[in-house]
Amino acid sequence: MLKNFRALASAAVLALAVFVPAIRANAQLKVVTSTTDLYDIAKAVGGDKIKAVHIGEGYQDPHFIEAKPSFILQLRDADVFAFVGLDLEIGWMPLLLEGARNQKIMFGGPGYLDVSRAIPVLDVPRGNVDRSMGDVHPLGNPHYWLDPANARRIARLFKDRFSELDHKNEDAYERNEKAFESRVSSAEQTWAGDLAAIKGKPVVAWHTSWRYFAEYNGMNIVAFMEPKPGVPPSPSHLVEVINAMKRTGAKVIVMEPFYDRKTADLVARQTNAKVLILPPSVGGVPGVTDYVQLMKYDMDALASTLRAAGE
Ligand SMILES: [Zn+2]
Repeated sequence: MLKNFRALASAAVLALAVFVPAIRANAQLKVVTSTTDLYDIAKAVGGDKIKAVHIGEGYQDPHFIEAKPSFILQLRDADVFAFVGLDLEIGWMPLLLEGARNQKIMFGGPGYLDVSRAIPVLDVPRGNVDRSMGDVHPLGNPHYWLDPANARRIARLFKDRFSELDHKNEDAYERNEKAFESRVSSAEQTWAGDLAAIKGKPVVAWHTSWRYFAEYNGMNIVAFMEPKPGVPPSPSHLVEVINAMKRTGAKVIVMEPFYDRKTADLVARQTNAKVLILPPSVGGVPGVTDYVQLMKYDMDALASTLRAAGE
């Protein structure tokens, strides 16, 4: 009997050891995110109740974030680790989490936050996908933040998780989350004219990262420069892209700053099209310092390029 009690008591102490740090009084929640976009939305919801840092920068290819070992220290005392998921962070995340040895943010811990779980994911492969074939989206398309409907889902997810871990501030999280949603909604009014200019227009995109953006604004992606996500275009694939552009009248090639502009220029020359470099993330170009600015920048730039191409 006594023995059982001891076992129970030590189990209780262990459980407390895991959960006490999340409920210390008057302390800010420490939130680490993998990307700047998640960071910005977490900040919008958490306000001054959280302390946040991001691992990647907005101008980096999110598939190949340079995760310095110093981030292990940031993760060591984090209450929440929020990441895009769908294997986007597979290259560095296991190593950093292992190094941090923080049970709260390990798989199964209260602060482990796979944001993709809140998102209706596009391009989920049917059947087996072999990463060795080069497809960098084996679990579906991870670039979901470029649709404001998903930004709202991310914000609600943060509100729920922060409120669970930090009950006393749940009213603030609720308020901040609503304010974020209405800020996004008012911003949408400012680009309503852009939507009209974009909807149904044929475009080419380098990577499938623009799929959610297209779902939102109705641009018609007639071809991708990459034959498969993460695989550089072969000459024969470029011929197909050029044919698709000629057939559909696509006059714009949309791409991130970190892909091979020379190849895109080559295709653009042969099709009398324009290459449009768009930031995919907060911080991707100077001046784009939050989520609303990012959406506004991309919507305005795409609409004005399409308008110019149509003249
Ligand atoms: Zn990708």
